[in-house]
Amino acid sequence: MDASCDVLVVGAGPAGCAAAVAARGAAPGLAVTVVDAARFPREKLCGGAITGGGQRELALAGLSLRVPHAVATHVVLRAAGISQRVELPHPAVVVRRVELDADLVAQARAAGASVVEGAALQDIEGDVARTALGPVRFRALVAADGVGGASRRALGLPAGRRVPLRETRQPSPRQGDLLFDLDAGVAGYAWRFPCIDGGRGFETFGVYSVQRDGSLDAALSRFTEREGVALGPAVPSAMRLFEPRAPVGVGRALLAGEALGADPLAGEGIRYALWSGRIAGALAARAAARNRAPSLADYRAQLLASRSGLLLQLTSRIALRLYGADPRWRRVAADRPVAEALAALISGEAPVGPLARLLWRFPAAVRRSRGPE
Ligand SMILES: Cc1cc2nc3c(=O)[nH]c(=O)nc-3n(C[C@H](O)[C@H](O)[C@H](O)COP(=O)(O)OP(=O)(O)OC[C@H]3O[C@@H](n4cnc5c(N)ncnc54)[C@H](O)[C@@H]3O)c2cc1C
Repeated sequence: MDASCDVLVVGAGPAGCAAAVAARGAAPGLAVTVVDAARFPREKLCGGAITGGGQRELALAGLSLRVPHAVATHVVLRAAGISQRVELPHPAVVVRRVELDADLVAQARAAGASVVEGAALQDIEGDVARTALGPVRFRALVAADGVGGASRRALGLPAGRRVPLRETRQPSPRQGDLLFDLDAGVAGYAWRFPCIDGGRGFETFGVYSVQRDGSLDAALSRFTEREGVALGPAVPSAMRLFEPRAPVGVGRALLAGEALGADPLAGEGIRYALWSGRIAGALAARAAARNRAPSLADYRAQLLASRSGLLLQLTSRIALRLYGADPRWRRVAADRPVAEALAALISGEAPVGPLARLLWRFPAAVRRSRGPE
């Protein structure tokens, strides 16, 4: 590995690969190095659903979907005992991360980035990152090492808001809808997604809570029992949630992907990893080309002014209510036009129409849900 580069990206998941490709695109002459602790192909616990909005971000990042995937045309939202099956304006795809991420690494390499595997970041001192394969000097850094990476600590940033998940899967010929069950008895939802693994049909089952919750295993058991499937033990994991007012970086470093935070409403992380990775990579490259630190104010402004950024601010607010203590909010999600507007938003539609529908329907749905608890 070279001992210096212009842009150093820590982590080669979707955020890191998007950052590397964007950095190369913004300043093609710059040396862009990506270091990852793992060797690819590597597993990543994930439902693997990429919504229409995620596919739009993939294209904006200059990346292509080239791996096998299941296609889901409908989403089922179960809330307050009511199920709404809504057609997604743009179908979602469901990938296996072991395949997707290895292919994104190949695409980042093809764009001219140097991806170094088995090079875990250990520490950062000034403009030098210490890795398992030696030190690397950088002009700008994108920290894209996910929920469990070392970069936040190394940069002296707070750990952020991390919440628990459980996931398990089993072979299944059923390749149905994306099911979100808000009646799972947790401050979040349980999910059932189709997927394809090694050419065979599978399904993933999981549960997600925006609070630290000791009852996730029991909630997942109840959910799978209700779904009529018997599953083995689930794997525990965590997700860092996006916080609109939290730091987006420090000094020469920008946070991207789940090092920054994922969507608390749908637990969607791939879309937002591609989104923030792309913006951070381009900004870091332009700053490195002028030997300046990237502007954190510009980064925040670009994030929040984009389509995905506007949606993320909205979903962060909705999640607070929907998964909060008052169960009446959950009934709002059972309102069909609200479910349709949410489906349009996650499908990546220009936000004006769906947002207008949400703003129009939400108060009426809330009023209707003001029945007894
Ligand atoms: C159970 C579960 C289900 C989920 N389901 C979905 C879903 O269906 N759809 C969706 O959109 N999102 C889902 N998510 C969220 C999604 O998986 C993440 O938000 C997304 O992977 C974030 O991408 P990233 O590139 O930021 O990080 P990651 O994909 O986590 O990649 C980070 C990379 O950094 C590397 N790394 C870690 N530490 C270091 C280090 N010290 N030095 C160097 N490299 C390091 C890792 O090896 C890894 O390759 C789910 C998450 C979980 C836990």
